[in-house]
Amino acid sequence: MFVYLDNSATTRQYDQVTAEMKQAMEDLYGNPSSLHCLGLASEKRVRAARQHLAEALGAKEDEIVFTSCGTESDNTALYGIAHAKRREGNKIITSRVEHPAVLEACKVLEKEGFVIEYIDVDDKCRLNMDQLQAAIDDQTILISIMAVNNEVGTIMPIRDIAKMKGKAVFHTDAVQAFGKIDMKNTGADLISVSAHKIHGPKGMGALYVKKGINLPAYLVGGGQERHMRSGTENVPGIVGFDTACQIAIPNLQTRVANMSKVRNYLLAGIEDQIKDIKVNSPADGAASVLNISFLGTRGEVLLHTLEQDNIFVSTGSACSSNKKGRSHVLAAMGLKDKEIEGAIRFSFSEANTIEEMDYVLDKVNAAVTRFRRLGSFR
Ligand code: PLP
Repeated sequence: MFVYLDNSATTRQYDQVTAEMKQAMEDLYGNPSSLHCLGLASEKRVRAARQHLAEALGAKEDEIVFTSCGTESDNTALYGIAHAKRREGNKIITSRVEHPAVLEACKVLEKEGFVIEYIDVDDKCRLNMDQLQAAIDDQTILISIMAVNNEVGTIMPIRDIAKMKGKAVFHTDAVQAFGKIDMKNTGADLISVSAHKIHGPKGMGALYVKKGINLPAYLVGGGQERHMRSGTENVPGIVGFDTACQIAIPNLQTRVANMSKVRNYLLAGIEDQIKDIKVNSPADGAASVLNISFLGTRGEVLLHTLEQDNIFVSTGSACSSNKKGRSHVLAAMGLKDKEIEGAIRFSFSEANTIEEMDYVLDKVNAAVTRFRRLGSFR
């Protein structure tokens, strides 16, 4: 059996996405800016994609900027707002559990003189809302809080944050939320999304910019994307993103129901059969993520043992797994080193089945038992 459980790192493209992209590469090669019919055909297709993505976010077509990835959307939101509003204040509020695409941008802005306030989370990665409320003052120009945490799946109360933001601009990194929870009419001013987390192509993202929010141009040139991000559009990428959206968004409820079913089945099985575990994901988290510490083991060793059985999981965030050191998310949640060391993230898609979970349960149980017998157990 082959079981892919690393869907928060990236997903397998839908076959239809691959087919539509291939066709776009073959047929839609005209530059969307060209005035002849080949250009117009590309422009029309890009426009339809923009319209669909806008609908998925409860937005208008001219509020969508296509980008090259979620990271670009996050960086753009943070740098753009910070620089545009630096005369109004110098404080930026974020959380300790953001993706590096936000945290590293904050570090750069800190060096430029901005003051960054990091909001704490509890042991299930829930944001300290009192601390957030107290932090918002008249110097606050930007709040950036993710919609769903990528390592444990905690859903952040972004609609509440949007109501309490005051005069600050509110950005949410919805890379793990889009296609998993409803992202329409959240009240956020800026929303980052990425195609490869919803079975679209890698290297394709978007940023929702609410009308009236002044985001300066950050790639200047031919004036594409309403002059905000110049550069000839990635037509096949946009077509792929659109195709993925059109499958994932209307079917959100059935997809999520399937993810919940397999996630809960695996969790119940692990709780039933394996002792000395710590469930790091909250019960009301996103259906796509299940993070568990198998105490007395090392997540990385378990990962490679499971790989030999064709089961693919992650120890934390894949995007940061090439950086030495422990997960900043699990550390912020107050986990002990031993608990962080034994953490595994299972992340699901609608394609996973109960039959697969029986296989995974068996293999995880065997891997943990073997490790504990051979390694030192606490
Ligand atoms: N934000 C979050 C929460 C993520 O999980 C990721 C990727 O894992 C990103 C941003 C970066 O997205 P991309 O890989 O499209 O740059």
